[in-house]
Amino acid sequence: MSQNQHSVPQQPRPSGGHVTGRVVNLNSDRLCVSPKRDHKSENYEDLQMEFNPHVFGSLEQYLPPHVLNLSREVKVRYMRNILLRYFPENDRNRIQKLREYRLKIILNYPPLHREIYTMDAENFFTPSFLRAIKENTEASFRSIMAEPSTGIYTFEMLQPQFCKKLMSEVDSFERWVRGTKLRIMRPSAMNKHGVVLEDFGLETMLDRFMSDIIHPISRVFYSEFGGSSLDSHHGFVVEYGISKDVELGRFLQLVEFGRCFVDAISWIGSQNCSSPVSNSNINQSDQNKRNLSSVAFLGRRTKCEPQNSSEINREVSLNVCLGKEFSGGEVFFQGVRCEEHVLSIAQPGEIFNYSHVPGHAILHPGRQRHGARPTTSGNRMNLIIWCRSSTFRELKKYQRDFPSWCGECKRKKERARLSLMVSQQELLKREI
Ligand SMILES: [Zn+2]
Repeated sequence: MSQNQHSVPQQPRPSGGHVTGRVVNLNSDRLCVSPKRDHKSENYEDLQMEFNPHVFGSLEQYLPPHVLNLSREVKVRYMRNILLRYFPENDRNRIQKLREYRLKIILNYPPLHREIYTMDAENFFTPSFLRAIKENTEASFRSIMAEPSTGIYTFEMLQPQFCKKLMSEVDSFERWVRGTKLRIMRPSAMNKHGVVLEDFGLETMLDRFMSDIIHPISRVFYSEFGGSSLDSHHGFVVEYGISKDVELGRFLQLVEFGRCFVDAISWIGSQNCSSPVSNSNINQSDQNKRNLSSVAFLGRRTKCEPQNSSEINREVSLNVCLGKEFSGGEVFFQGVRCEEHVLSIAQPGEIFNYSHVPGHAILHPGRQRHGARPTTSGNRMNLIIWCRSSTFRELKKYQRDFPSWCGECKRKKERARLSLMVSQQELLKREI
């Protein structure tokens, strides 16, 4: 059956019963434990809902037999009803607003370099980097990377031509934003001169960037941080300089007073305090809407809401300098910490400084505390991609401490072990 033959409502009723003459009790909707693997799921790509259409395609094989052969409309309603039980209303509203916001931009912004909106590895990456990725082994990655501090990797990555195109695309988008007077969401509270790439059509390219490029490396180096199960991304380009984002230097004071700064903290919930989408009357039929897939990073907010300020919102972070003339802007690192120990003092071996080189990348765990020193002259642009693993986050809920990667948890555990040893020795002495 073709998609056009279906009449699926954009927002089906959350509950209800009578459909095509049959009564379905949506309050007792259940899925089967085992999928019906020989069942061919229908195509749901045309759906415009709060859930990714692919979720419906995957879920269909788990439908009970009495629902499996009903109309697509009934199945959509049935599956949506189940999904709603697992998805709080606030999150759904937030995602819907973000979807509308992106759609509005994508339908109106004319890209300058269309060729960078689709992954083209041969033209994006340097030949040596591509060879290592194609070989896909720890040895091949290490052959092109330096590890100046434990778990932090630096390497040459992007071709100068691609860097130039991405920078001019960002400039073009900023000009368009100024011209249309659209109020856009910035990547974080610290970046008033930055743009979120997923917001203007680069989401599909970033999907491939994460799955084909970052994932193979993080699978090898960051398995303890969910590096094998990255499933969403937040990609942005920021510009630093005298007339741009120089504020980062302020945060150095926190470090100098013995406290450490993690830029992710400011990112959580730091978006504009009201939805920038004033007109949601969007042409749903445009082909560009297909560019909108699942909303990466559900934590991204369009409204001011209570937030957990200690949550760190990514597992793996890639930072690539795109270029321009500049001096200063070094990145400093202060060691990996869990949320509870994010403000603990850095040990001497954990401190590391990095100076940007255009086209070169620095890859590190998202929980590696870091900040940037001020760009003292000129301007520079950086591409930053944060990747997240929902599996890691789910598992993390069941853990109380993280001695395998948090420097402070590890020290705490070691102190407890030593204290136990001393107590045992004292007891033994008394018995003698
Ligand atoms: Zn810890």
